[in-house]
Amino acid sequence: MRIAVLAETDANEARVAATPETVKKLKALGADIVIEEGAGEESGILDAEYKAAGADIVAVGKAATKADVVFSVRRPTAAQLKGINDGAAVIAIADPYGNEAELKTIAGTDAVLFAMELMPRITRAQVMDVLSSQANLAGYRAVIDASAEYGRAFPMMMTAAGTIPAARVFVMGVGVAGLQAIATARRLGAIVTATDVRPATKEQVESLGAKFIAVENEEFKQAETSGGYAKEMSTDYKKQQAELVAAHIAKQDVVITTALIPGRAAPVLVTSAMIKSMKPGSVIVDLAVERGGNVEGVKLGKIADVNGVKIVGHANVAGRLAASASALYAKNLLAFVETLIDKEKKALAINWEDELVKATALTRGGAIVHPNFGGKAE
Ligand code: NAD
Repeated sequence: MRIAVLAETDANEARVAATPETVKKLKALGADIVIEEGAGEESGILDAEYKAAGADIVAVGKAATKADVVFSVRRPTAAQLKGINDGAAVIAIADPYGNEAELKTIAGTDAVLFAMELMPRITRAQVMDVLSSQANLAGYRAVIDASAEYGRAFPMMMTAAGTIPAARVFVMGVGVAGLQAIATARRLGAIVTATDVRPATKEQVESLGAKFIAVENEEFKQAETSGGYAKEMSTDYKKQQAELVAAHIAKQDVVITTALIPGRAAPVLVTSAMIKSMKPGSVIVDLAVERGGNVEGVKLGKIADVNGVKIVGHANVAGRLAASASALYAKNLLAFVETLIDKEKKALAINWEDELVKATALTRGGAIVHPNFGGKAE
């Protein structure tokens, strides 16, 4: 069994899909590991470290040849998979929404493409949950980025020369990233408030020592899907919430937005008028920028300045902590591939009845099979 680890080709991608630690564990499963030259460099991992862990290093573009399993961070192109074995597993953050044409070309390689971000959020799959492992780091990094752009200290400082007030940080969207942003801002000594449309988050916010801000009417009390995700709210609710938020934001120094609704564009939560109400020197970090953004005027990959308010729109924020993000992502992949391998035969053995496989497999036998992307589930 040959497991290949690709070097990422996207300029915004510093992460890598295996670490020396996971290479050793994959070897113990009876696999040969091939890694493309320099794949770990931006995560601080040298080829020599992979070699010492038992991997072979090959030229970029060569790893997939005769591979049974391919690990990648982003969805590879069909060209990167040249020579791959029929029925091989390609495991990546496959970004399938709106990319059916690309999925079809991968299907054409006869590989089974798995989208790690579609992993069900059930107890058994927690160790494979890339959304959580990466969002947690992104939430932390959002606060670090905000503090780097903010020209003042976060904690209150009482000095002989005078008192510096604590920064006021408002976190919008309290999923995995938002919770970590709250915890990080609290550790830095900020006064933290947060909002979300899911009522369950109120207690979580308060348990982290932050204050919850929301219109808590009947609609709010019902606003969670059975899967634990946010629902699209009514126009009336959005209006009331926007008024509450508008009054609150005017008093904030830092706003971190993380609000997402699965499969849809991110909701706009911070309008231009709200930005204008903020003090010059304030900072907004939009973690939803890659899905359209929660903040009006945010620019992907840029720091925009609107009346002295900085709007930070970094792409791939988890990737800005590449070494940590790679370490966790590699573990997520290792845990998943273990479920795809027959340990006695030391061979790939995909169980098509497994709910993890059903939820994440996008292509099989030359076609798209995932029902959400035009495929017919088998
Ligand atoms: P996400 O990234 O999809 O969204 C981030 C947050 O934005 C969510 O809390 C959402 O409610 C919020 N949001 C959406 N629209 C909003 C709006 N208009 N205003 C304010 N906030 C808005 O969320 P996530 O981090 O992936 O977490 C989603 C859910 O999954 C949570 O319930 C989380 O606890 C749960 N979860 C479960 C597991 C598990 O059981 N294994 C693991 C991770 C997360």
